[in-house]
Amino acid sequence: MCGIVGYIGPREAYPIIITGLKRQEYRGYDSTGVALINNEGLQVYKKKGKVSELENALLGKPLSAHIGIGHTRWATHGEPSDVNAHPHESNSGKLAIIHNGIIENYALIKQDLQKKGYTFKSETDTEVLVNFIEDIQKNTQCPLEEAVRMAMKRVAGAYVILLLDVDHPDTIIAARKGSPLVIGIGKGEHFLGSDATPMLEYTKEVVYVNDYEIAIIKADELVLKNLGNEKQTPYIISLDMELAAIEKGGFDHFMLKEINEQPSTIYDCLRGRLDAKAGTITMKGIEDNIHALTSAKRIIIIACGTSWHAGLEAEYIIEELCRIPVEVEYASEFRYRNPVINKDDVIIAISQSGETADTIVAIEKAKEHGAFIFGIVNVVGSSISRISNAGAYTHAGPEIGVASTKAFTAQLAVLMMIALKIGKEKGTLELKRYMELLNELENIPEKVQSILRNADALKPIASKYKNAINALYLGRGYNFPIALEGALKLKEISYIHAEGYPAAEMKHGPIALVDNQLPVIFVATHDEYHSKIVSNIQEIKARKGKVIAIITEGDAIIPSMADDVFFVPPANELVAPLLSVVPLQLLSYYIGVDKGCDVDKPRNLAKSVTVE
Ligand code: GLU
Repeated sequence: MCGIVGYIGPREAYPIIITGLKRQEYRGYDSTGVALINNEGLQVYKKKGKVSELENALLGKPLSAHIGIGHTRWATHGEPSDVNAHPHESNSGKLAIIHNGIIENYALIKQDLQKKGYTFKSETDTEVLVNFIEDIQKNTQCPLEEAVRMAMKRVAGAYVILLLDVDHPDTIIAARKGSPLVIGIGKGEHFLGSDATPMLEYTKEVVYVNDYEIAIIKADELVLKNLGNEKQTPYIISLDMELAAIEKGGFDHFMLKEINEQPSTIYDCLRGRLDAKAGTITMKGIEDNIHALTSAKRIIIIACGTSWHAGLEAEYIIEELCRIPVEVEYASEFRYRNPVINKDDVIIAISQSGETADTIVAIEKAKEHGAFIFGIVNVVGSSISRISNAGAYTHAGPEIGVASTKAFTAQLAVLMMIALKIGKEKGTLELKRYMELLNELENIPEKVQSILRNADALKPIASKYKNAINALYLGRGYNFPIALEGALKLKEISYIHAEGYPAAEMKHGPIALVDNQLPVIFVATHDEYHSKIVSNIQEIKARKGKVIAIITEGDAIIPSMADDVFFVPPANELVAPLLSVVPLQLLSYYIGVDKGCDVDKPRNLAKSVTVE
């Protein structure tokens, strides 16, 4: 994962790099480092811990420079430590590298280099790579960009690297395969980042570097080349993102801000697409490919984590409205087994960042079998948006909190629109129900807003259960994926072990966990299974479990049985998951904060999972 930042130009590089790293900390935050070249030569500073810890440690140091690179790490090879932190220097001390990703064949390369007398201070694959490049350069006397090109042909894995060479203080060399790299174009200056956030206040013109491209970046020149040493034309796009979108805006945490943004992010996602009055859904990616979608024999959804839960929700909805069989796959499993994929299968790939390594490889695998790929991503211009045959953006804006909230509800909104559109075109969804559901979806942002107005009601529930060791989340039907998502959120944010289960399935095992200490969170909004879930609540109460229920306003039964309840506005059961997930996000948030956890940067996690 990790965040990388670079700058070359007339400004002071260090403050740009530090600010950029802070904005990218969601990508990894176990250690931080910068490398600068100034009159004194190559300066490398690095430290275990968050960006602010390095910043404090460097107060008073001479950091003036006009070229530099910085890294915030999510360790894959070697524990988080000062020595394993990036940048890594080559044995000669001339090159400094930062790296996002994994070099899979590093062990063999390392052995070869050790035989040649190279020594290594860290346990990282990255230090091997920088010495491998140095060795190629030494043996062939070629320029650094050429050595990088040769190295790229021989290393396996996924990476973005940025390199500084003390002998060439006017150039940053960058290369990419499988991890994201954005170059911001300024006037006589260039900015680099894993995403566009480090450069937002300086330029809106950016280039997304493609796989197998090498960038030779000077202050006033950007040259892109492919592995065959042919120049590539940089494809410049204009960013549609403002600085305010990546700041906390008065909230204590990004996660809370992002939960609170959901009325507007869901609205933005629907805006320009859904018109309930006219009875239309306008989605170009769907319209252009409507035949492939309506005639699909099967839809396979591939995703990871929270996106996988959105996929599971879509399975229920698409099967109901479109009568197309749906399978929901973990990308990491799909890519390594031998799945049956046919030409008339449609793949829907879901990823917030659009850079999820496992999902990307799973897409490539499905493409080899001729399947049609529809990508649903949040980050505009990301890898998945580029390798899919068609797709839809979720338009949730930058999500900085590591635990996904607004991206999830935007994914649900997109998936619901897709199901409605296909169902209508296919004729499996009758007009009356279609119109009704359009109307229901259009009303969701206002209903989410009313849930947020009552958010304080969750605070006492959070303090009551914050010391729980385990928690069980139960739901049926459309609320089952929401139970899974609620459990994941609690785990991520508060480190309380939580399991999501289908409410009835609980009898086949997890009920053994129930005692008078166990909080059991029921997602029990009004639907056709209501009486069934009421029985499940009774089963938990009969065993003295503590029941917290998310229910629909007007529910006259569950309040008398549950220990705590939270009401959400009434809504059709197909769209109700967009409501019932919100109190679960808030509950996790309040528990996490009550316990003193770092909710925006939970331990061991990172947001954009660009390693497999
Ligand atoms: N594999 C490298 C390491 O463990 C880079 C990991 C990252 O992407 O942060 O240091």
